[in-house]
Amino acid sequence: MPGIALDPATTMLGLVDVQPTFMPGGALAVAGGDAVVPVINRLLAGPFAHAFATQDWHPPGHSSFASSHPGRAAFDSVEMPYGMQTLWPDHAVQGSAEAALHPALDQRRIELVVRKGFRPAIDSYSAFFENDRTTTTGLDGWLRARGVSQLFLAGLATDYCVAFSAEDAARLGYRVFVIEDACRGIGLPLPEGGDTVTAARARLAALGVGFVTSADLLG
Ligand SMILES: [Zn+2]
Repeated sequence: MPGIALDPATTMLGLVDVQPTFMPGGALAVAGGDAVVPVINRLLAGPFAHAFATQDWHPPGHSSFASSHPGRAAFDSVEMPYGMQTLWPDHAVQGSAEAALHPALDQRRIELVVRKGFRPAIDSYSAFFENDRTTTTGLDGWLRARGVSQLFLAGLATDYCVAFSAEDAARLGYRVFVIEDACRGIGLPLPEGGDTVTAARARLAALGVGFVTSADLLG
């Protein structure tokens, strides 16, 4: 996009949960999730000198798994001590092959991997805070120590971990962009109408988060 300077000293590409568990064939497959990998690799080979990645990383029996709540099904919502929590199929189990970063992902410029969701009783969508909104992953401190002020986010899923990461980043004062064709969403229907992808987009736009495509950045 014209006008966005990608100063390598202050700009970082953030890759959210680019893991086979969220791709076709995985436990919590996002439609077209694997299509983000080649797009991200082009960005990593081109305009972005520095990147970090997150990994969803749950112990067996994690509280976000529907299987941990007798009588509940995947995609139900339950009240947790920290608020409402959507329940998911068992996914991203620590050490499993599908919890690894996707094997085709070009990791050469990935300088930090942040694992999240490893506390049994708290889920973690955002790269910055767990779902209690106060337990930090430490990412903000690392980015500030590196002098980063501008973040471009890509990965899975648009409406959950990418959106929560973008929202927290904007609130923490970063200039934030979501690279739309380098993300895919889950798109759960909402009781008030619409779905989680369109709702997330509106919420992020209201916070000043920008939306770009890889073509804007690759020129
Ligand atoms: Zn998870």
